[in-house]
Parts: sequence; structure tokens; C-alpha cells
Amino acid sequence: MSDTLFTKIINREIPADIVYEDDLSLAFRDIQPQAPVHLLIIPKKPIVTINDMQEEDKVLFGHLFYVARQLAGEMGFAEDGYRVVMNCNEHGGQSVYHVHLHLLAGKPLGWPPYTEKLKV
Ligand code: AMP
Repeated sequence: MSDTLFTKIINREIPADIVYEDDLSLAFRDIQPQAPVHLLIIPKKPIVTINDMQEEDKVLFGHLFYVARQLAGEMGFAEDGYRVVMNCNEHGGQSVYHVHLHLLAGKPLGWPPYTEKLKV
């Protein structure tokens, strides 16, 4: 299988504004930010979607959340608040098929993501 965009960022084959890296993960600024702070936190392991997560990946996914929490503290928006989101497949709005946690912050964020009226 050919490398995704995000594997190319991990391998420094294409540029990105990288803010954090460790053995398991990389965090960089989203190229089309949807909030004043919009980071993507990705595992170095190329897992395609949440549906492809294996039991052995549980700790790795927890690590992505831990990196989000650390960056929120270091970048100074932990107390004001922030959102972490992982989109899955078409209905979830996934466009890059290498799992990634969006970390959004810097202003009050809109909710809900679904705007059509729901039958209750
Ligand atoms: P998703 O739609 O959840 O799959 O999120 C993919 C995200 O990757 C989008 O928010 C894009 O703006 C972002 N993106 C795509 N290409 C790049 C890139 N080269 N560098 C940084 N972010 C990117």
C-alpha cells in the first residue's frame, strides 16, 4: 500500500509545522485550521481508521489523548477548554486515512456537528 500524506509528514518527505514528536506519535498544525488552534496528533503506526484499531493499539490511542492533554497544558488553553475529535470514514468526515486526533482550541467552539432536525 502506498504511503499516506501523514506517513510522508512523519518521514519528512513533505513539510509540516511540527509542534511535538516522540517515539509513538507526532503533532503538527492543521493546514486548514478550523479554530485558532488546530493541531493533529497522529500515531507513527499507520492505522487507517478507528475501525482498524486492534486490541494491541489500546495503549497507543490512550497515548494520543495524553499528548493532547500535555499540549493543552503547555500551550496554555487547558483551563479555558478545548475539543479532541477523531473522525471515522465518510459519515464521520474523515478525509485522510491515517488515524488522527484533532485538537481544537482558542475560542468557544460550536456544537452540535449535525444541524438537520432530528426526530425524537
Ligand atoms: P479528517 O477530515 O478528519 O480526515 O482530517 C484531515 C485533516 O488533515 C484536515 O483537517 C486537513 O485540513 C488536514 N490536512 C490535510 N493535509 C494536510 C497537510 N499537508 N498538513 C497538515 N494538515 C493537513
